[in-house]
Amino acid sequence: MTCAAKDKTARSADDLIAGGAVTADRREEIEAVAGRYAVAVTPAMLDLIDPTDENDPIARQFVPSAAELDIRPEELADPIGDDAHAPVKGIVHRYPDRVLLKALHACPVYCRFCFRREMVGPGGAGLSGAELNAAIAYVAERPEVFEVILTGGDPMMLSPRRLSDILDRLDAIPHLGVVRLHTRVPVVDPERVGKALTDALRGREKAIWVAVHANHPREITDAAKQALRRLAEAGAALVSQTVLLRGVNDDPAVLEALFRELVKARVKPYYLHHCDLAPGTAQFRTSIEDGWRLMKALRGRLSGLAQPTYVLDIPGGHGKVPVGPGYLEGSDAAGWTVEAPNGQLHSYPAAPGSAAPEGSD
Ligand SMILES: *Cc1c(COP(=O)(O)O)cnc(C)c1O
Ligand code: SF4
Repeated sequence: MTCAAKDKTARSADDLIAGGAVTADRREEIEAVAGRYAVAVTPAMLDLIDPTDENDPIARQFVPSAAELDIRPEELADPIGDDAHAPVKGIVHRYPDRVLLKALHACPVYCRFCFRREMVGPGGAGLSGAELNAAIAYVAERPEVFEVILTGGDPMMLSPRRLSDILDRLDAIPHLGVVRLHTRVPVVDPERVGKALTDALRGREKAIWVAVHANHPREITDAAKQALRRLAEAGAALVSQTVLLRGVNDDPAVLEALFRELVKARVKPYYLHHCDLAPGTAQFRTSIEDGWRLMKALRGRLSGLAQPTYVLDIPGGHGKVPVGPGYLEGSDAAGWTVEAPNGQLHSYPAAPGSAAPEGSD
């Protein structure tokens, strides 16, 4: 079924047309956007795109559109404030006990809604040997750092040899407990999760957690499930991150199917991210109230194992926080009012001898 043009990652308007992801009349539009933001669509994702569907949720995530050139005043080049917390090149240290280590800028695909779209892209060498030494020394010198999160770019784009070298050096730091990899590779380029990569992860001193980025149930293909199985068999614990995206997954049935597919593949849904204020991404953002409605629709209908936490990264680098929805509807001297999954309200008494519960929300 796969034609030759789908055997390699599409990186230009011509590649996308040849790969059957778009029609030739969109060449100029795509070239205009590609001049501004990196483009890459892997063969596995090209295969999923239905070019006859104007609202295809896979195309919407990866195929450039003119809407990206519409930049709103509230949008920021560095929406989550990485630069405000970068003590040495490649390290972001915002929370006391964990740091991001960004060893490279490359990703297997370039998502049109990316929160780091001004930073990621092909080319740009990533960290030099000396810079990587300095970044690892920063971690080694700080006993309060418990967890290193490899991100970028995508750490599974490192050669297995380079990844293995970084993991060897992190394994040797006594105070670290966890090494986490944030990646889209198992979903968008599952063949890359081969023996060399899983061997690099296997048998590690530190607990390896892999946080897989997935947004639509169609992304969880048989090949992706097999890649996830290989990671689980290599001893990695698996969680997922999903970005809430208008026109892609802002539908309770779509999120339900996605989270069910993930738990079936041994992946615990971890975060549902409210879409960040990255430039040219207004077309993807829902309201927070929409996010609440979606989360409420899943509560009670879907196993607790399949429920992520809905989070917002506060613009400017102030941190990620859960943004609801809440189920405590109010309080008085007698106690709380609590909303059940079906929307009915119930009361719950104040603890004996306690002051009246504070505040309602
Ligand atoms: C998201 C993020 C983390 C990880 O946060 P968790 O809530 O532990 O997943 C760590 N550091 C920075 C700078 C981040 O943006
Ligand atoms: S994989 Fe992640 S970092 Fe890379 S383009 Fe997509 S959202 Fe951005």
